[in-house]
Amino acid sequence: MKRPPAIDPTTHALFLDFDGTLVDLVDDPNNVALAADRVERLDEMTRRLSGALAVVSGRRIGDLDRFLAPLAFAAAGVHGLERRRKPGGEIEFLMQPEALDPVRDALAPTLEANQRLRLEDKGTALVLHYRTAPDLAEAAKSVMRHAADGRDDLIVMEGDNIVEVHPAGMDKGKALADFMTTAPFAGRIPVYLGDDTTDEFALKIVTEMEGVAIKVGGKESVAEYRLADVADVHHWLDVCGI
Ligand SMILES: [Mg+2]
Repeated sequence: MKRPPAIDPTTHALFLDFDGTLVDLVDDPNNVALAADRVERLDEMTRRLSGALAVVSGRRIGDLDRFLAPLAFAAAGVHGLERRRKPGGEIEFLMQPEALDPVRDALAPTLEANQRLRLEDKGTALVLHYRTAPDLAEAAKSVMRHAADGRDDLIVMEGDNIVEVHPAGMDKGKALADFMTTAPFAGRIPVYLGDDTTDEFALKIVTEMEGVAIKVGGKESVAEYRLADVADVHHWLDVCGI
């Protein structure tokens, strides 16, 4: 396990996944919280990086704002389908929620029959959670694949105790590459921290850009560097040089 190198606030840009990276994974995704001193630290880092800090998450940007208030930050939400290009900027939506209505309809009977499966509707993505019903994992994956069957414009992805459907053609890697083309990120070296399968798109792009790809946790990864867990991430953020 190779520890990440020191980061220079004048030459690097920092990209952070949220769940499993900044906060521990919990059964109810609404039940996460970040201590006030951690938010203050992120605020300090954002200033030292001249705004080149973005949170890249499967969550909606509105949710991230709620958990990270009063921090002003750039963000890619719903795997890049929502974008805020700089701290305090407007949120852009790269697709309309109605595109998923046929999938919502197809999932409805299964959700009715299996009350322990929970659907999180993110507008531009639908996430089926089975963390509290692991015996229904296969059923959840199967119903999601069937609901999206025949839709080339959609992609079904499996994550940590979830299966998700959202428009194809966007992922955390593409969102990151897009950030790197505009201020305040352009011209900097990307640093990315993430724990899950969906972060691998970004970790791969960062590796190709000769940036600093950091995997959180023990799962297989293309990343060169590792941090053990959420506590280790916060420790590293304190000592990384920003
Ligand atoms: Mg994560």
